[in-house]
Amino acid sequence: MINQIKEILVTREELKNNAKELGKRISSDYEGKELVLIGVLKGGVVFFADLIREITIPIDVDFISVSSYGNSTKSSGVVRIIKDIDIDITNKHVLIVEDLVDTGLTLHYLKSMFEARGPKDVKICTALDKPSRRKVDLEIDYKGITIPDKFVVGYGLDYAEKYRNLPDVCVLDSSVYTDKEDMD
Ligand code: 5GP
Ligand code: MG
Ligand code: MG
Repeated sequence: MINQIKEILVTREELKNNAKELGKRISSDYEGKELVLIGVLKGGVVFFADLIREITIPIDVDFISVSSYGNSTKSSGVVRIIKDIDIDITNKHVLIVEDLVDTGLTLHYLKSMFEARGPKDVKICTALDKPSRRKVDLEIDYKGITIPDKFVVGYGLDYAEKYRNLPDVCVLDSSVYTDKEDMD
């Protein structure tokens, strides 16, 4: 697996510090408030696990699993919910936790969907940000590391369901990509 990595873009140490800093900010901003953290499966799980262990206030956690409709390389902005959250978020503060914001379409959709359920507010936290490809104006309340417009894997992010377990955020050798349609 290792020799398929072309470049390490973000190291495990940087990712650890990132989660630490964001966890600290979240802990102080939500002190005394009822907070629900919602992780976006599957890519968000590694960051989610790092982040919640850096949060020092009581929280509820839940997960949502989503997939884009249609051609994955041309996201339509309509998101299919594969698994919804179980928790009632009425009157609670909601923080959506994502691996990476790219076009912003997924989070734009999820934010309005959760807002329609009567929470106190809905905010966004992401480990990585790829701002060069943004298609919608999206406010990111807790933004981690900004990366260039490259397809990345590792730290939860996959290529055709593989490489999620790489501890660093990496760019793969181009020989790996047999089907570019899967590069969402
Ligand atoms: P969006 O374009 O809606 O902001 O991004 C939706 C999701 O696509 C991201 O949360 C992430 O899971 C996936 N994605 C975007 N860019 C990349 C990338 O470079 N690598 C991988 N593996 N997934 C990505
Ligand atoms: Mg994601
Ligand atoms: Mg994917």
